[in-house]
Amino acid sequence: MAQSIADLLRELKDEMPFLSKYLFIASWQYSQFSRLKASLPQGWMLKVADFAENFRTFYQDEIASAHWTYSQITVFPVVCFYRCMKCGESVQESCICLSEYLVHDSSAVKTFTKVINDHLQSRRHTESTHQVQFTDGCAAQFKSKQSFIDISNAEEDYGFKIERSFFGSRHGKGPADGLAAVVKQACTQAIKAKRAVITNANDMHEYVKESMTLDSPAKSGCAHKLQTFFLVQNIDRQPCSTDASGIVRTRKLHDVVVVARGMVKTRNLSCFCSACIDQLSGLECINTKYVDEWKQKSLLNENGKRKQTSEVGGNCDPRNMLKQEGKVVRSNRRRAAQ
Ligand SMILES: [Zn+2]
Ligand SMILES: [Zn+2]
Repeated sequence: MAQSIADLLRELKDEMPFLSKYLFIASWQYSQFSRLKASLPQGWMLKVADFAENFRTFYQDEIASAHWTYSQITVFPVVCFYRCMKCGESVQESCICLSEYLVHDSSAVKTFTKVINDHLQSRRHTESTHQVQFTDGCAAQFKSKQSFIDISNAEEDYGFKIERSFFGSRHGKGPADGLAAVVKQACTQAIKAKRAVITNANDMHEYVKESMTLDSPAKSGCAHKLQTFFLVQNIDRQPCSTDASGIVRTRKLHDVVVVARGMVKTRNLSCFCSACIDQLSGLECINTKYVDEWKQKSLLNENGKRKQTSEVGGNCDPRNMLKQEGKVVRSNRRRAAQ
């Protein structure tokens, strides 16, 4: 026993530098998120996005065989913070995308992002110049070469630049996780109480849209707490690559900002000090002790084409990705036959 405790202490001592570094990064990134949220500059939008665990449909009074006929629904919650176009106060809008597309990849992220940005621009009339997206660092979803190319096109797509910041590992449950949990719990309760029958994404969307939407008043007046649901069935699938090795050491970077189409800048940590927010001010970042200088990276080759590492059917093939994630999704029919 004494031996094993000594071994444990030795291992802990060896791991301590790595552990303390990870904890520092997680704490730093979260503090930058909090700082930006507390004092969002005019024209900026802050988002927190993450895939939730899929919602699994079920029937009230479920008979044993029905247990095998459930389907799954992708839930992608995004909490958006921006300034009210009427009074300038802070607005929090929860946007939840629901889909039967079960692959949690950069194509899904790109499509959901577009649906939400189109809504914010056309319905809320937001006029952002800069959008910061905080996410976790999952390579396939948010940190791949393809996802960097997608955000590098933001200026053409939306008219503003996107900056993506990554929470460190062990960042705990963020606002997006909490939002998804509330929505899924409401659906579960409604099914159990026989207030709703939810067998697919369309049913779920109908129920939550009807019972949980928080919309702005029809004419005048402000609404600073909003909640909107989207049913997204058509995903804009693209060839993609799941890693950005060769461009950047992705594990070490926690901030990516668009320079131009096919061009990004990266750095080890996020910083939203006054100098970093207003990069034209000529001031120096106050956190250079921790935050490295930006490194500019091209995502395109000399011919202006995407530097390619893998195509559909490789690591990004939905079947392979599901296998990688340990999610075995079978059709209802096959499940029912079992
Ligand atoms: Zn207002
Ligand atoms: Zn700074």
